Amino acid sequence: MPRYYTDDPIADFNRKDRDDQKWLDSRPKCHACGEAITSDFAYHWDDAWYCKACKDDLAENILQEIYLPLPEVPA
Ligand SMILES: [Zn+2]
Repeated sequence: MPRYYTDDPIADFNRKDRDDQKWLDSRPKCHACGEAITSDFAYHWDDAWYCKACKDDLAENILQEIYLPLPEVPA
C-alpha cells in the first residue's frame, strides 16, 4: 500500500481511504456474503470464491448432506 504524508492529516486519511476502497473493489468477492476477500488465500468451490466464515457455513451444509446413517448390517 502506498503511504502519503502531507501536512494535512485529513487529506491523507481521505486519500488512504479511497485507495483502500479501490483495493477492496479489485479483490474477489465472497459469493455468499458479497464481502471483498482480503486474505491471500480463500476457498474456491463450484466456480466461486468464499471467505473463511462462509466456507464454514458451506462446509457445514455439505457435511450435513453426506452425513448419513450406515446401511443396516445383515445379521
Ligand atoms: Zn463470505
